[in-house]
Amino acid sequence: IYVHTSLDGLKTDEEARVLDKDGRVVLGLFAAGEVVGGVFGKDRIGGGSLANCLVMGRISGRNAARS
Ligand SMILES: Cc1cc2nc3c(=O)[nH]c(=O)nc-3n(C[C@H](O)[C@H](O)[C@H](O)COP(=O)(O)OP(=O)(O)OC[C@H]3O[C@@H](n4cnc5c(N)ncnc54)[C@H](O)[C@@H]3O)c2cc1C
Repeated sequence: IYVHTSLDGLKTDEEARVLDKDGRVVLGLFAAGEVVGGVFGKDRIGGGSLANCLVMGRISGRNAARS
């Protein structure tokens, strides 16, 4: 048994900054990949996860290093 994907999780912006429930940036907190929700809506296009994980992972890592 394995978890193939998750559709819910933290909310982030285009710079991978985590947003709070009011949409405000949580300073110094970045996220990407399965821990982030809302990227695909209520369903996921098969095979569509890894590109997002890689692109947003790079952006979040870069921004975390700069912050
Ligand atoms: C069987 C299967 C097939 C899939 N096929 C596809 C596909 O064809 N195409 C596609 O796009 N997606 C596919 N996916 C989905 C895709 O693999 C995931 O969405 C993606 O790998 C998630 O990346 P991630 O970096 O968010 O998480 P993960 O890849 O799960 O990486 C998280 C990492 O954190 C590490 N970790 C966990 N806890 C700790 C801790 N406390 N301290 C340090 N490290 C920790 C883990 O060991 C792991 O290396 C598939 C998933 C599964 C299960």
